[in-house]
Amino acid sequence: MFATFRNLAPALRLNGVNVLRHIHQKPALYDANMLQQQAFINGEWISAKSGKTFEVLNPANGEVVGVVPDMDLEDTEAAIKAACDAFHVWKDTTAKERSQILREWYNLLVKNQKEMAEILTLESGKPLAEANGEVVYGNSFVEWFSELSRQIRGDIVQSSVPSKKILVQHQPIGVVGLITPWNFPHAMITRKAAPALGAGCTVIIKPAEDTPLTAIQIVKYAQEAGFPPGVVNLVTSSRANTGPIGKLLCEHHLVAGISFTGSTAVGKILYKQCAQGVKRLALELGGNAPFIVFNSANLDKAVDGSITSKFRNCGQTCVSANRFFIQEKVYDEYVNKLVHRVKSLKIGDGSQEGVQLGPLVNEPQLHKVAEFVNDAVSKGAKILTGGKPATHLGKLFYEPTILTDIKEDMLVYNQEVFGPVISLIKFKTEKEALDIANSTDVGLAGYFYSEDVSQIFRVSNNLEVGMIGVNEGIISCAEAPFGGIKQSGLGREGSHLGMEDFTYVKYTCIGNLS
Ligand code: NAP
Repeated sequence: MFATFRNLAPALRLNGVNVLRHIHQKPALYDANMLQQQAFINGEWISAKSGKTFEVLNPANGEVVGVVPDMDLEDTEAAIKAACDAFHVWKDTTAKERSQILREWYNLLVKNQKEMAEILTLESGKPLAEANGEVVYGNSFVEWFSELSRQIRGDIVQSSVPSKKILVQHQPIGVVGLITPWNFPHAMITRKAAPALGAGCTVIIKPAEDTPLTAIQIVKYAQEAGFPPGVVNLVTSSRANTGPIGKLLCEHHLVAGISFTGSTAVGKILYKQCAQGVKRLALELGGNAPFIVFNSANLDKAVDGSITSKFRNCGQTCVSANRFFIQEKVYDEYVNKLVHRVKSLKIGDGSQEGVQLGPLVNEPQLHKVAEFVNDAVSKGAKILTGGKPATHLGKLFYEPTILTDIKEDMLVYNQEVFGPVISLIKFKTEKEALDIANSTDVGLAGYFYSEDVSQIFRVSNNLEVGMIGVNEGIISCAEAPFGGIKQSGLGREGSHLGMEDFTYVKYTCIGNLS
């Protein structure tokens, strides 16, 4: 597949620097000039004030694929100031102007989606086909919100007294901090930035340490699209600086709100930090998705759905199926089909043709998956396939795994594994499946397969999650509201609801009318 990268060398450029050339010229990947182009504040590509940098690694082989500024509080202060100054101008642009710049951004993202997907694969390890899919998905939010930004409406409400008029309008909240994870380095940014910008807010994007290069590309095209200086800012940082930067964004008096996607644990920290200033907060957090196969299910479709829902991005997807509940009459047949399919998955470097499963993103992720499987096995779980790291492929690969004989005290039963592991649980009745599925304090997505119409409505009604796939393993799209209940978060992204986090309602009473 690197042959393909070679053919695409002219296109594969980061801020004017040919990435591929640097990848093949070890060890100096970027020159100093390149480093000064990496973070983006107030319309300028800059390095960290401290001069510090950190390396971005390819999870498939550990090679350095980028070196970016390790920004800290001083840089973040500058970004907040720039975003605040820019807000006073940006909020007064017309919806049509904002929509047109968003549309231009979308056009540039589409034009460059191939190179974007390649960079995404390089830093996240995601198979190229999936990276392409993510870029198309991520771009769709920019298109969607370029259209929706012209649809922000208000109300004129009938007053109970003739001398008063009641006007209701939606206004942008101000500067927002967008903190995003590594598992969808493109889409998690556009799903927040596009509605925020469309509503008239200005943004400071803080991508994950593992995947800043995709963020840089996204911002590069935002700049080209014509967002004025300070409207879009990008602060890259290593994990060591992330906590303090997050705290500053949450607590700074010039920041109106935070939109975060990531773990529930970090979401709770941000929630507390935002409480002090009663900041607007959107949280897209972790899940523990049930995947239920009822007796009436079409088993081939259920197996297809299991594979796509579980193994996308090597299981590192917040809406990934985590616990598989199979009704007893179809258990054996489903398991036979599933094991056959899982054994045939092609695992390897995501940049290579035909690879379906890449590496995990970093060592903590690999250790977590190994710990969950070892814990289950030590408590009596049986391995049907997989069950160990695929060290012959590299340091971060883990075999696609199926476990049976799952018990309540196992980590795989209670927590999000965030890796390529299926845990099978046999059940007898619909009520039993629902009780176990709902016995968790998170509720992001859930899936079930059934051909019984009454059951479809009953179970949809009673599953305690924010999103449901019925006979479907892939549910996310720009048009539908994305988000969870319980400890899976607050607010909704995408859909017509996706702008609500970035606007507040202003009521104006015009009185003493004669
Ligand atoms: P994470 O550790 O919470 O990190 C997510 C982002 O938060 C990264 O940018 C990270 O930066 C930053 N961060 C970490 N600690 C922070 C702090 N104290 N203050 C401010 N920011 C902080 O999550 P992850 O392990 O990368 O991602 C996996 C989790 O995200 C899973 O639980 C998954 O379910 C969830 N997720 C949810 C959704 C959804 O839409 N609901 C989508 C994708 C993922 P660094 O990388 O620099 O640490």
